[in-house]
Amino acid sequence: MLDIAEEKVALKQADPEIFRLIEEEEVYQKESIRLIPSENYVSQAVLEASGSVLTNKYSEGYPGKRYYEGQRFIDELETLVQDRAKALFGVEHANVQPYSGSPANLEAYYALLEPGDKIMGMSLPDGGHLTHGWQVNFSARFYSAVQYGVDPVTHLIDYDKVRELAKKERPKIVVAGATAYPRQFDFAALSEIAREVDAYFLADVSHIAGLIVAGAHPDPAPHADVITTTTHKTLRGPRGAMILCREEHAKAIDRAVFPALQGGPHNHTTAAIGVALREAATDEFRAYGHQIVTNAKALAGELLERGFSLVAGGTDNHLILIDLTNKEVFGKKCAKALDRAGIVCNYNTIPNDPRKPFSPSGIRIGTPAITSRGMAEPEMRQIAEWMDQVVSAPEDEAVTDRVRAEVAELCASFPVPGLPNA
Ligand SMILES: *Cc1c(COP(=O)(O)O)cnc(C)c1O
Repeated sequence: MLDIAEEKVALKQADPEIFRLIEEEEVYQKESIRLIPSENYVSQAVLEASGSVLTNKYSEGYPGKRYYEGQRFIDELETLVQDRAKALFGVEHANVQPYSGSPANLEAYYALLEPGDKIMGMSLPDGGHLTHGWQVNFSARFYSAVQYGVDPVTHLIDYDKVRELAKKERPKIVVAGATAYPRQFDFAALSEIAREVDAYFLADVSHIAGLIVAGAHPDPAPHADVITTTTHKTLRGPRGAMILCREEHAKAIDRAVFPALQGGPHNHTTAAIGVALREAATDEFRAYGHQIVTNAKALAGELLERGFSLVAGGTDNHLILIDLTNKEVFGKKCAKALDRAGIVCNYNTIPNDPRKPFSPSGIRIGTPAITSRGMAEPEMRQIAEWMDQVVSAPEDEAVTDRVRAEVAELCASFPVPGLPNA
């Protein structure tokens, strides 16, 4: 077992301040139960590729069409990663250069739309992402945006309502995808709606890409014109993104990424994405994806038993949205108390939230990171029990201190992938 302090010798000598902060974050990631559904732990192999000398390279362009010399290894690398992405997601074309999920969506719009064209996506308070047409985002400034939401009672997408809105608004693109929707997307239904109004269909699977490749969520590939995804959420790769599409859109997508919106690709990230894609193609990863959902369902069941109110009544993916209005504690206060107790989550709006986004009624939790540590159903019961204790007494330091100690003890027996204790 390597001690954390014995690693990163050069960094420790050259920059003790940054070294200390990274070291403290490592301990924090080890000793806490991380329930933020967009976070994960990458493997040591992904970390090594990510921290490699490939960060020294410039390689604007694409394999075989670069604007810099000296690309023999980079061309081979990027082609390999493209091929892995195409095989894993079952698509005709893959662009692996987007810097992150938000630029990937901008690039997809740039490729398919003209400025001012209409985007129809899920509204942020109902679970959609900023880049799906929320007012403060480029997607509502450069384009015109209309938003669909969830049914106020069931919290599910009402596909008939979406169809009605599409027929009335005639968007140029229909976007599926969310950051806080605990149920499955019916990609077939949404693509059908898009087809009926001659719109493109974009599936942004950032949160659920890992579930899709594991076979634990329906697959958008047969239905979508374009798929965007981050690589760092359930897919368990480095921070980055990919755009996957049919051959007919390949040229437009590639031109949108470079030269329209980006310069040189982050080759160290491309390499790390490749490593993650190879890991994601294994039986082990399939089992991991299914266990994420099993754990989320188990955790939701335990929370329901303890009187928590869950948006949409539960989950069939990796995340749970808790409506705290019956608990007399708001999302922000609750998330902060849980963090003091070693349980990390984020406050979140719930559908029709009567409170403001900066202090909403809910919290959002998820199981990708704890499942990467090997936690399973027994730990879900324990986590629900701790959450109940903290939420019942968010200001009682004796409770948060005790839970934090118990959390650290549990974490010690679930090694973190990628960290020296693994
Ligand atoms: C996370 C996410 C994004 C944005 O990704 P960043 O890498 O944070 O820019 C876009 N769309 C969805 C649905 C997401 O969940």
